[in-house]
Amino acid sequence: MLFSEIAKTFDRLESTTRRLEMTDILAEFIKTVNPAELREVVYLSVGRLHPDFCPLELGMADKLVLKAIVSVSGKKQSDVDEMWIKLGDPGQVAEQCISKKKQMTLFSEPLTFQTVIDVLSAIEVTTGKDSQDKKMKLLSRLLHESSAVEARYLCRIVTGRMRVGAGSMTLMDALAIAFATKEERPEIERAFNITCDLGLVAETLAAGGMEAVKKIKVSVGSPVKVMLAERLRTLPEIMDKFEGKCAFEYKYDGIRVQAHIKKGADGFVKLYSRRLEDLTSNFPDIAEALKNQLKGNEAIIEGECVAYDPATNTLKPFQNVTHRRKKHGMSQAVEEIPVRIFMFDLLYKDGTDYTLTSYSHRRLMLETSFNDNTEGPYDLVGYSEREIISTEEHAQEFFDKAIAAKCEGIMAKALTDSSIYRAGSRGFLWIKYKKDYTQALVDTFDLAVVGAFYGMGKRAGVYGALLMASYDPDTGRFGTTCKLGTGFDDAFLAALPGMLEAYKSNTKPSSLDAEMVPDVWFLPGLVLEVTAADISLSPIHTAAFGTIKEDSGLGLRFPRFTGKVRDDKTPEQCTTFEEIKEFYELQEERDVQEPVDAVEE
Ligand code: AMP
Repeated sequence: MLFSEIAKTFDRLESTTRRLEMTDILAEFIKTVNPAELREVVYLSVGRLHPDFCPLELGMADKLVLKAIVSVSGKKQSDVDEMWIKLGDPGQVAEQCISKKKQMTLFSEPLTFQTVIDVLSAIEVTTGKDSQDKKMKLLSRLLHESSAVEARYLCRIVTGRMRVGAGSMTLMDALAIAFATKEERPEIERAFNITCDLGLVAETLAAGGMEAVKKIKVSVGSPVKVMLAERLRTLPEIMDKFEGKCAFEYKYDGIRVQAHIKKGADGFVKLYSRRLEDLTSNFPDIAEALKNQLKGNEAIIEGECVAYDPATNTLKPFQNVTHRRKKHGMSQAVEEIPVRIFMFDLLYKDGTDYTLTSYSHRRLMLETSFNDNTEGPYDLVGYSEREIISTEEHAQEFFDKAIAAKCEGIMAKALTDSSIYRAGSRGFLWIKYKKDYTQALVDTFDLAVVGAFYGMGKRAGVYGALLMASYDPDTGRFGTTCKLGTGFDDAFLAALPGMLEAYKSNTKPSSLDAEMVPDVWFLPGLVLEVTAADISLSPIHTAAFGTIKEDSGLGLRFPRFTGKVRDDKTPEQCTTFEEIKEFYELQEERDVQEPVDAVEE
C-alpha cells in the first residue's frame, strides 16, 4: 500500500466532524487494506506504532521536526519558526513548506506504507549519543520523499498530534461494517475491552472473521479495560437497587492497579493504571510481593494501592501514595512511603478467564489465590474489607466504619449470577457511595482543562481560572462544564503553566464544543478533580447540550478544585456527559437556581 492512500483517508476524515460520515470513510478504506497491514494502520490512525499500553512513543520535539523541515524545504530557519508560531502545528508548517513544485523535482519513488513504518520504528528506537541528530535525519528522509499532505501527517505523527477525530468507537463501527454485522459489533467491542489492542482485534477480524474474534481471550500481559461503578445518592437507594442484599467493600483512596503476574523463567509482573500506564516501577515492592505470594503460575488481579502506616496499621490519605509516582528517587520513596495493595477482583488465573463469571465466584477464587506473608514488617498484600449487607442499619454501620478507617466511602457490589466483570463499562453492578455525598456536595467530577483565563489582582502573571470540560464517548467530543477559579493554592497556581505547556493550542481544539472563549486554549490532556454544590442548566456551557433542555447545556455550580490532579486518567476517561446528566436528574428538588455563570468568578 502507498502511504498516500492512508494520508488521503486521514485528510478526508479531518474534513468532517460527523461520526457517520467518518465511519463510512473508514469502512470503505479498511476494506481495501491488506489484513497483514491493517494492525499498523489502526495504530497509526492515532499516531502510534503499538497499542496504547506499550510505553514506546515517537515523541519528537517540535524544534527537531522544524529542523528537518528546514533541511528538506531549503527554507530559512527564521521563516519556518515564524510559520510555526503562527500555525502552532508542525504538520501544517511542513505541508506549506514542502511545495508541490519542489516535490516534483525531489521524490523519485512514491512513499510506501511499509517504508513509513520502518523509518518511524527506527526513529522510535534511536537512543543515546547523537540520537536527536539521527532522528532528525530519518524524518528528513521521509519528508524528502513525501507529498505535502503526507508531510502534514508524518510531522503530526512524530510529534504526538495525530487526532483526526475518529476514536476507537468509530473505528469499531467501521470494522463491523467492513467485516461483520451490526449485531456483532458488541463482540468486537468486548474483544477490544479485554485486550486494549484494537490493532490486534482488527487484524484478527480481517484475517479470520468473527469466529476468530470470539476466540480472543483475556491474557497475562495485555491489560483489560477496567470496570467502573455507577453512583446513587443514599444508602437506602443502593439497597433498593440491589433488592435488599449486596456486598459492601471499603472504597479505598489510592491508585487502582491491574496486576499481571507470571512466574517462571519468562515470568514478569506488570502493574497497569486505569489509563494503561505501566506503574510497575512505582510499586516494585508490591510487584515483588504479589509474585511471591501468588499460588499458581499466572494471574490478573485488581486492587487499590494505598499509603499505609505499618506502625499503627492505618491508611494514609491519597496525596501520600502519589509520591510513589515521581520519576526519580524511587528507592527512597519505597522506604519512606509504605504501601499496601487491597485486592478486590480476579480476572484471570492459570488458563481460566474469570471475567464472565459472577462477582461472588471471582471473590472466592481471589481469596484462595494468595498466601499470607507472616514474615517482613507487614503483609503488603491484602484483600478489600468486605461484608454482605442486607439491612439499612448494617449498611450505615459499614459505611461509618469505612470512613473511620480513612476510606472514601463504600463500593456496593451485586451478588447475582449475572454480576460479571464488565470490562470497559460503567454500570449498576457496582455502585459507589462517598463521604462527600453526605456533606451536600454531590460528588467529585474528573474534568479536562481546555482553557485558561489570565489572573488579575493577586493572581496577575499566572492563570487565574480554568475552563473545564467533560467528555462524550459516543461522539468523541468534549463540552465545557464550568469556569474553575477556586480551590487552588499558590504553589499549584505557580506550577500550572508548566503542567499545561505541552497542551497549549493556538486555536480551539477540534474535539471541543465551547461558547466561552478563554485567553489560552489547551488540547484536552490534564485532568483535575472538582467538587460542586450542584448542577444546573447553563446557557453557556456545552456539556450534554440540548439533552435536558433545548439551547442549554449542564454546568457545575460553585465548582472547587479538590487538590487532586488525576494523572491516572486520560481526558477520555473523565466524567461523561451521561454521568453529569444522571447527576442532574438525581437532584430531587429543582428549586429555581441562578444561571450557572452568574455565580462564577
Ligand atoms: P471513582 O474513581 O470515583 O469513579 O471510583 C472508582 C474507583 O474506586 C476505582 O477505579 C478504584 O480505583 C477505587 N476503588 C477503591 N476501592 C475499591 C473497591 N473495593 N472496589 C472497586 N474499586 C475500588
